[in-house]
Amino acid sequence: MFKVGLTGGIGSGKSTVADLFAAQGVPVLDADRVARDLVEPGQPAIAAIARHFGPDLLKAGRLDRERLRRIVFADPAERRWLEALLHPRVYAELERRMAALAAPYCLLVIPLLLETGQRGFVDRLLVVDCPVDLQRQRLQMRDGIDAAQADRMLSAQIGRPQRQAAADDILENTGTVVDLAGPVERLHRLYLTLASGSGPGNAAPAP
Ligand code: ADP
Repeated sequence: MFKVGLTGGIGSGKSTVADLFAAQGVPVLDADRVARDLVEPGQPAIAAIARHFGPDLLKAGRLDRERLRRIVFADPAERRWLEALLHPRVYAELERRMAALAAPYCLLVIPLLLETGQRGFVDRLLVVDCPVDLQRQRLQMRDGIDAAQADRMLSAQIGRPQRQAAADDILENTGTVVDLAGPVERLHRLYLTLASGSGPGNAAPAP
């Protein structure tokens, strides 16, 4: 199946854009959702996490995600350990779920696609883009956090220019949500065309 990756900085509007593709009937898989599912009780990853960080990280068999977040936020080595455990599993699980889909193409929302060095996982890359100030503002509104917290989250990701450089298509999300509908429809038609005639590497011009 033709794979369109959707990435962008936190608060740039990935979920908002993904919903618009879903409304066109496009199957959408979300790497963050998959990562959460992988640490549900009974999954192998949760046992590995408990062995590594200690049983305190479990509350009645469930992962204490907030506590884990604090640990890996404070300690880059622990963050790398967790990423090495989860990232290969997330990509394998995305493959598994894609195999069950019947559609010309699917949209894979992968916030850390470029940070994890996985550009090659998708056939086409769509980047949702907006100025950092707007990203910060939306993030603060959505998550109820202050500017300093928002800045810390933003600085953990690669920069806007690197993301723009990696994109096949860029969707500017600087207007209203209604403004996104037309561009999403045009991109949807482009992806249907790419998916029907051709595989990876067919460089069609951006709309
Ligand atoms: P991401 O998934 O990239 O982190 P979201 O899609 O959750 O970003 O968007 C961040 C916040 O900004 C959400 O509360 C969303 O409703 C809001 N938002 C996204 N795009 C727009 C827009 N064009 N106009 C107004 N609010 C928006």
